[in-house]
Amino acid sequence: MWCILRGWRRGSLGPWGALGQHWPRGIRALASERPRIGGEYSHVVVGAGSAGCVLASRLTEDPDKRVLLLEAGPKDVYVGSKRLLWKIHMPAALVANLCDDRYNWCYYTEPQPGLDGRVLYWPRGRVWGGSSSLNAMVYVRGHAEDYERWQREGAAGWDYAHCLPYFRKAQAHELGAGRYRGGNGPLRVSRGKSGHPLHRAFLEAAQEAGYPLTEDMNGFQQEGFGWMDMTIHEGRRWSTACAYLHPALRRPTLTAETQTFVSRVLFEGTRAVGVEYIKNGQSHRAYASKEVILSGGAINSPQLLMLSGVGNADDLKQLGIPVVCHLPGVGQNLQDHLEIYIQQACTSPITLHSAQKPLRKVRIGLEWLWKFTGRLQHLEEEAVQVLQGLPGPESKLLSNTRKGTVR
Ligand SMILES: Cc1cc2nc3c(=O)[nH]c(=O)nc-3n(C[C@H](O)[C@H](O)[C@H](O)COP(=O)(O)OP(=O)(O)OC[C@H]3O[C@@H](n4cnc5c(N)ncnc54)[C@H](O)[C@@H]3O)c2cc1C
Repeated sequence: MWCILRGWRRGSLGPWGALGQHWPRGIRALASERPRIGGEYSHVVVGAGSAGCVLASRLTEDPDKRVLLLEAGPKDVYVGSKRLLWKIHMPAALVANLCDDRYNWCYYTEPQPGLDGRVLYWPRGRVWGGSSSLNAMVYVRGHAEDYERWQREGAAGWDYAHCLPYFRKAQAHELGAGRYRGGNGPLRVSRGKSGHPLHRAFLEAAQEAGYPLTEDMNGFQQEGFGWMDMTIHEGRRWSTACAYLHPALRRPTLTAETQTFVSRVLFEGTRAVGVEYIKNGQSHRAYASKEVILSGGAINSPQLLMLSGVGNADDLKQLGIPVVCHLPGVGQNLQDHLEIYIQQACTSPITLHSAQKPLRKVRIGLEWLWKFTGRLQHLEEEAVQVLQGLPGPESKLLSNTRKGTVR
């Protein structure tokens, strides 16, 4: 985080340049400032990602609110079509966006002392839907005990009993409503159903080894092996943009801008009153009468706060950033989970490897484009184990049919 900030203040680097990247398409270097008072908004939401799409949608249900949603990346459709932007919407194409900076910030970590100084690639969505437009679509709420711990550590109202009604309100599970499942929310969730023999073998092996199966890993018994829930609907990725943003775009209460990079939060004293943003190489301002909401993700939101003068005062002063508020926790203590792959040679030709032959690729690609069916409507990973008793918020073992991988 610190290195991203330093690069930015030197004037030579954007948040991408600091990480050795070129500026993504559509966002170029800062042009001369041309302040402009924007329209009248009650709320300005920065980032149309997983959180931003939900916020923009829920806020604009109220006809008295006027919301401006600013997203650095592009729309998640091409000339209005999800089919034409298959890279985002085809579930099995998920790796396509992980090596393409069009919809991805393509970050890299600093050298990690715990990993022998290795630098790790760190993809993050930069498009409507944010990371939910390029993530692995696994629907896992997190372990109930993590929420209980948050509450114990002082986050009042974040215990699982308080969160469960919101999970249910958000969700439309294809298996219908239940004590733990929602039935008619905007977020479509389906259960892995390819029935692939490798996933079955994975589950059988688990049972043979004495581990329990679980019917619903987001339900009463979270630990154990079972079929995964996924944010896939009728063969397509169901990002938060699909679930929340697209239906809300018709509302007159919502203005959604793309290719718009927010560079600073504007303060009156310590109260956030608006933002400065760059669009088409020009700098503009927009003001919010009620709230400025930062939903730029776990990397970009703290970075934006620090660029705006909220962070560790000593660090900000060194960089010549005027201090608005000394909050040393900003940009610290970020944790993410690692993925570790274990590949096994498969004794039968049943992995997805054969589907990657050029002619087969074309055939199954056309089937998906025509009917949203076929192998590409599935995720490679449909069976999972949630491990009990390991440290960390999320310990999972996933079976993957691409090359007979377990990760
Ligand atoms: C490759 C990958 C696989 C994953 N797999 C899973 C999974 O299977 N299951 C799961 O539950 N989670 C998964 N995750 C994690 C999950 O997707 C994220 O935790 C979640 O989407 C984060 O939501 P967010 O709203 O905080 O940020 P994001 O969804 O990343 O949204 C932030 C948005 O803000 C925009 N933005 C940022 N800065 C600015 C700025 N200055 N101006 C304007 N716009 C800005 C970004 O472009 C982006 O669109 C995965 C993530 C990745 C990257």
